[in-house]
Amino acid sequence: MEHDHVTECKRCILTSKNVKNITFDIDGICEYCRYYDKVVSKLGYATQKALWIKNKIAEIKKSGEGNAYDCILGVSGGIDSSYLAYWAKENGLRPLIVHFDNGWNSELATENIRNICEKLNFELNTHVINWEEFKELQLAYIKAGVIDIEALTDHAIMTTIYKIAVKYRIKYTLNGFNFATEAIMPRGWVFDKADWENIKDIYRKFGNGKTIKSFPHLNFYKRLYYHLFLKLESIQVLNYIPYTKQMAKEIITNRFSWRDYGGKHYESVFTKFYQAYILPTRFKVDKRLAHLSSLICSGQITKEEALAEMNKPLYSENDLKQEKEYVLKKLGMAEAEFDKLMSSPARKHEDFKTEKIYWNRYFKLIKILKLKFK
Ligand SMILES: [Zn+2]
Repeated sequence: MEHDHVTECKRCILTSKNVKNITFDIDGICEYCRYYDKVVSKLGYATQKALWIKNKIAEIKKSGEGNAYDCILGVSGGIDSSYLAYWAKENGLRPLIVHFDNGWNSELATENIRNICEKLNFELNTHVINWEEFKELQLAYIKAGVIDIEALTDHAIMTTIYKIAVKYRIKYTLNGFNFATEAIMPRGWVFDKADWENIKDIYRKFGNGKTIKSFPHLNFYKRLYYHLFLKLESIQVLNYIPYTKQMAKEIITNRFSWRDYGGKHYESVFTKFYQAYILPTRFKVDKRLAHLSSLICSGQITKEEALAEMNKPLYSENDLKQEKEYVLKKLGMAEAEFDKLMSSPARKHEDFKTEKIYWNRYFKLIKILKLKFK
């Protein structure tokens, strides 16, 4: 019998055991570390990045002249978006602050967001989702056994931001995504958040049969239209400025009495339960591996520190019991049914309809148009 050989990346904590189909180069570095190197070097040197963002700030300000706002900023209460609010103020921007409430906010998150807006004198616009409908969508995803349950929230946030941009004629959004803390995400651990066909089909097969009415969504053509004609530009600010999690945390703690949630994306009760229980239990995925590997690549922690972090349990037994009870009660799902689902085989998002067919049509059309106008 062949021996199970585990290959470990020489730099990060990903291995052939914890990430399916991962590949390594001749130096023993994994493809995700190489991806990190590639995207970061594309941004250029520090001086180039500083100049780029300086010009962008001027551009944003100019676009907002005569308008109440010059950009949109979505805040979750987490470190990245909280720091971004501070950065926007420091640089004289006038963001329309949007918070999307999907019903799972921890009280601490609500308090953190309120503190930040108060101290920065930014008005807070909270969009509350229709909980009954959202709950049915989340239940459908859990029953279907697809991995990216969070795609629902991300899709709704994306849609909400687009709609606000149209309403207020805003051309820019500040985006908290950054390579330094989240560049690495193994294939198959997330799905395309924009894919409305996929959401619809999963709900059609596993939902309660009611028509979706108010859930904020964008279909392929509407999104394409927005993309081509609205030209809303999403600025990944944190990629262009010196940024570390530690520094950001210190600033927001000192200035806004911001309090920690104890984990990345743990500002939402559901996200915490999803990352710390559903993903490892049903999908054998521990997202801490990806987060910590990004931090290693950006030099914020050592491999030893990351491995020590991985040795900590995802949940204490008591916390798990309490939070599981809370989540299931809120979703209205019996524990026996949930436990049965957790040990049932997962399904791929690709087992359902996706927008791939629309993309194919779109590219075909572009090809035809190009030939005609040659
Ligand atoms: Zn690696």
